[in-house]
Amino acid sequence: MYINYDTLFIGGEWVKPSSAKRIDLISASTEEPIGSVPEAQESDVDDAVAAARRAFTEWSQWAPSDRATAMERFADILDKRAEEMVGRVSSQNGMPVAIATQLEGAYPAILLRYYAGLARGLEFDETRPGLLGGTTLVRKEPIGVVGAIVPWNLPQSLAAFKYAPAMAAGCTVVMKPSPETVLDAFLLAEAAEEAGIPGGVLNIVPGGRELGAYLVSHPGVDKISFTGSTDAGRMVGQTCGHLLRPVTLELGGKSAAIVLDDAKLELEKIAEPLFTATLINNGQTCFLGTRVLVPRTRYNEIVDIFTGFVGALTVGDALDPATQIGPMASVRQRERVEGYIAKGRAEGARVTIGGGRPADRDLGWFVEPTVFADVDNSYVIAQEEIFGPVLSVIPYGDEDEAVRIANDSDFGLGGSVWTSDPARGLAVAKRIQTGTIGVNHYMPDPTAPFGGIKASGLGRELGPEGLANYQQLKSIYLGQEHVG
Ligand code: NAD
Repeated sequence: MYINYDTLFIGGEWVKPSSAKRIDLISASTEEPIGSVPEAQESDVDDAVAAARRAFTEWSQWAPSDRATAMERFADILDKRAEEMVGRVSSQNGMPVAIATQLEGAYPAILLRYYAGLARGLEFDETRPGLLGGTTLVRKEPIGVVGAIVPWNLPQSLAAFKYAPAMAAGCTVVMKPSPETVLDAFLLAEAAEEAGIPGGVLNIVPGGRELGAYLVSHPGVDKISFTGSTDAGRMVGQTCGHLLRPVTLELGGKSAAIVLDDAKLELEKIAEPLFTATLINNGQTCFLGTRVLVPRTRYNEIVDIFTGFVGALTVGDALDPATQIGPMASVRQRERVEGYIAKGRAEGARVTIGGGRPADRDLGWFVEPTVFADVDNSYVIAQEEIFGPVLSVIPYGDEDEAVRIANDSDFGLGGSVWTSDPARGLAVAKRIQTGTIGVNHYMPDPTAPFGGIKASGLGRELGPEGLANYQQLKSIYLGQEHVG
């Protein structure tokens, strides 16, 4: 079904865009046209920021419990329209529906309800006895208008990482989705409208990087929350640094999946968590452990296990419920992944499975899931983010060397440790320089802070810490007596 929009969602209304420019969407699996939306221009961003500023005056004054109720209605509508949402996301970016049902269908409503619950329980004001006489009223005030910039790989859940805590705090949002995934953003707008979210609390401005840069530097924006590549994140951070504008940056990764020498790796038991930690969403996920660190004493055995595991994955149309690996999100993205596979070969790494395009797929931007053996951690394929279904298996001597290799990376976002001894796994996990890590599984939980160190970003999303991103502190010193 072809989806067409002629208007933009700004200030709670569907308004005529300021230009006739359009963004056209192509199915990643079939290369067929699937939709078209207006491309927002700078003047549309101006309107969206102005609408968000107007809405902020009231929304920030709502009782947190009233905001929570509105957010729960929003969650109900998103649940009702989840299947439609999943279809839109999967046809655009190639995420298999079986995965999108959880990550893009269910997760945003879970986040809205979680932050609605936090808003109900929050103390926004606290009175503290002073040491120098008087007391202080410490207030957590909403920071204002948030510019939220979202990538294409998990467009709905990553958007919810931002708008759910921002709305709970009393902020309003101007969201810029990635041009590769805009049809889902329009459905999000419809859901907000249907849920009766007050006009201007959530505004959507679809466009590319220039429009994103315009939003980042807009004088009417109080805070930027960005998820995307490290290169773009540096530019966003530079602008925000100059403007002294608070910013959260969730950027790229190149995490390690460390297999300890006692790991059993029985695929009948661990195939699902192993897949989630290393390959979910066609490898187009920031936190994946794509550097698989393996004890040298068990190297050949574990390379064979990974080769069998990856070779058995079902590659297919993203809309087929049996598919485990779908296509890359765009031609550009496939070129990037194929470029890295060529680099890996040129560096001397050995392809044990995959390495090309699936023979039975003439259409769609498919790449075979691929395993490289004989990889040294210094190789480009071990240092740079490939963002595709490509694993590099790297040998290590002892546990100290595994930790050293894992930490020898510009990034620090995710990671996992695989062992039959959870206490040992935890001890190793504590030594890894990263923002998040799992033992025998990996999945960001809404209640815990998520984010990276080093080139993986600044700040954290999710958990109560994610809500604090959208608040600023004000101390009001109260004297013993009023004067005058
Ligand atoms: P990208 O940086 O090209 O684009 C991300 C978003 O930022 C898009 O909406 C884009 O239009 C916009 N943008 C690009 N340059 C900009 C600029 N200079 N100013 C303002 N906005 C700009 O990234 P992508 O290719 O869409 O997404 C993939 C990247 O995102 C990967 O590196 C991945 O690791 C990262 N990512 C990180 C996380 C995380 O939470 N750490 C999650 C998902 C994806």
